[in-house]
Amino acid sequence: MSGATALIVAAGRGERFGGERPKQYAPLAGRPLLHHSLAAFAGHPGISAVRAVIRMADRDFYDQAAEGLALLDPVAGGASRQESVRLGLESLESLAPDRVLIHDGARPFPSAPVIGRVLEALERSSGAIAALPVTDTLKRGEAGRIAGTLARDGLWRAQTPQGFSYPEILQAHRTAAAADELTDDAAVAEFADMDVLLVEGAAGNFKVTSPEDLKRAEAWLRGGAETRVGTGYDVHRFGPGDHVTLCGVRIEHDRALLGHSDADVGLHAITDAILGALAEGDIGQHFPPSDPQWRGAASSLFLKRAGDMVAERGGRILNLDLTLVCEAPKVGPHRQAMAAVIAEVLAIEAGRVSVKATTTEGLGFPGRGEGIAAQATATLSLPAPA
Ligand code: MG
Repeated sequence: MSGATALIVAAGRGERFGGERPKQYAPLAGRPLLHHSLAAFAGHPGISAVRAVIRMADRDFYDQAAEGLALLDPVAGGASRQESVRLGLESLESLAPDRVLIHDGARPFPSAPVIGRVLEALERSSGAIAALPVTDTLKRGEAGRIAGTLARDGLWRAQTPQGFSYPEILQAHRTAAAADELTDDAAVAEFADMDVLLVEGAAGNFKVTSPEDLKRAEAWLRGGAETRVGTGYDVHRFGPGDHVTLCGVRIEHDRALLGHSDADVGLHAITDAILGALAEGDIGQHFPPSDPQWRGAASSLFLKRAGDMVAERGGRILNLDLTLVCEAPKVGPHRQAMAAVIAEVLAIEAGRVSVKATTTEGLGFPGRGEGIAAQATATLSLPAPA
């Protein structure tokens, strides 16, 4: 089998949040917590197979968590996390995947962009993990008093998924089995001198270790959504050329729009509206015109990045509404195609995207045919802050 396989580690006895149910099976929005992690990998286009490592005594709980998902049969874990991962890796030997992503079952929200970044980094390295830079100041304490302040430069908090070349991490785990317990798979990889990259994790990719975390996860999923609205406005001027690109659609015209990227004024306004709803600055800040990598760039890249930022915050786009302002070219015949491009780039339903057009009755710069303006509104649903 080629492609990447996900190994979800859920064999811990864990802390029980009441009753006999280990925490990885605690109910979260009506499904066992583990279901959410399994579903995130089973639904990711870069993952070809998913296997969980469990305690066989929890098999009934597992079956509830796996309901409705296409997964490989689970395998039994061991006495420690490290042993459970090794047993999981051994069980994949006959499938021989190229790459394996190892993930803690108690992290219910590994977002698609985070999984994607780990997979992408594995094209360049034999290992890559999701992690976040340490932003708090770190103190060393002794008997309840500060005994020193640690430099936080270069320090990262390791999350999962942690991805590796399958044959290399299997060998590393076999070798490390005799050593002292290591707390994550990157430590096993380091033990074997593998090259491991750090890629950006996400604040939402937290581990549920206490009943408070479970409440936070519940709020994240459905309890505390808030609605956010952003607006975007953009203008590009006409210059010599034979076509314009509006919302990713090429339209023949006797002039072109000038700009550093492909000058897609429609996608720029929508990107700014999404960034505005996130309060994350503007398009010029994220994709500076001074940066040569954006010269002639397809503006769908900017839109895709804004959409990823929404997903990373655990949010979703409720609707987008765009108005293009120009005398020519005629936008009407292309409106549906434009909305379809936007919906596809953002992976949202077409019914959430509206593209409209108007003229200014010959008034002002659009009326004089000097350029095209675009105005957009984005409505997002974001998890409310705890
Ligand atoms: Mg622009």
